[in-house]
Amino acid sequence: MRDNYNREINYMRVSVTELCNLRCRYCMPEEGVAKKAHEDMMTAEETVMAVEAAARLGISKIRITGGEPLVKRGIVKLCRAIADIPGIREVCVTTNGVLLPRFAKDLRDAGISRLNISLDTLDPEKYRYITRIGQLEDAMAGIRAAEEAGFDKLKINTVLMGGFNDDEIPDFVSLTREKPVEVRFIELMPIGGGIGFDKARFVSCDTVLDRVPELVSLEKEEGVARLYKLPGAAGRVGLIRPISCEFCESCNKIRLTADGRLKPCLHSDQEISLRGLDGGQMEELLRDAILDKPQKREEINAESPSKAGRDMNQIGG
Ligand code: SAM
Ligand code: SF4
Repeated sequence: MRDNYNREINYMRVSVTELCNLRCRYCMPEEGVAKKAHEDMMTAEETVMAVEAAARLGISKIRITGGEPLVKRGIVKLCRAIADIPGIREVCVTTNGVLLPRFAKDLRDAGISRLNISLDTLDPEKYRYITRIGQLEDAMAGIRAAEEAGFDKLKINTVLMGGFNDDEIPDFVSLTREKPVEVRFIELMPIGGGIGFDKARFVSCDTVLDRVPELVSLEKEEGVARLYKLPGAAGRVGLIRPISCEFCESCNKIRLTADGRLKPCLHSDQEISLRGLDGGQMEELLRDAILDKPQKREEINAESPSKAGRDMNQIGG
């Protein structure tokens, strides 16, 4: 359905857990999150009911996220239930990849269309640093498992951080030479753990074009990514500019958190609870939330952070 600003809202990001097996510095606190009481979180049944209600309103694309969605007990069953909902045409999962060797094939069989795997560095020590507890080899094994399970057109999400991984831009772009992957550079956002990051870390996606001038624009956008390609490469490069470029005008999404709050806008603290409701009531609140989706966010930058009021792992990126 269309919101009050005539935007077609057809995409919902569904966070299934706040918990994570990594602790990325720009996302969440080192100590992790206090596990909330069971009754404060959406049950799998409620999540499915919410997606069914959303589908009745014209939502056709779902992204399952978190926290780390693959640490959620029963994740494959939940993915299958969501993929089977009439009207849902595409279900994707965003993951750090660490548990993909265990789950990739089952996710494929459950009807997941595509995977986005987050990977900010190709250097084992830097990986350990940015995730605080992770091992690069686990994420790389996850990428291989996804390929072996038949997920083609994998997307690799790389948060660009000045002085941390901007020196690796050419290496990331090179991953697209032989493989049909899409490497997507995402500007660091002053949200969650990213609040208080040094100003120098917030670099624009223009840096990618400066470092790899051979990239050719495909004059095309896919969702929020502007697409580029190295001549003759199998894959492509996406630039996602949440800071240097606003995409509010064409925003087509809403979010549902693992504790059952609808967030019509990532950067607003507006939240609407769906807990304890039946499908019809959920549909009514979803309709109101879509209609009232804010027209645009306020300016955000290193000095003026997002008003989201939650860490990214508690929203679902
Ligand atoms: N755990 C999964 C993962 O890392 O892919 C899914 C959840 S994570 C919150 C989703 C995405 O949000 C990741 O690609 C992550 O890099 C991104 N993200 C988290 N905090 C961010 C920030 N402050 N700025 C930009 N992207 C961020
Ligand atoms: Fe976990 Fe993803 Fe946040 Fe990293 S970005 S801490 S993997 S939820």
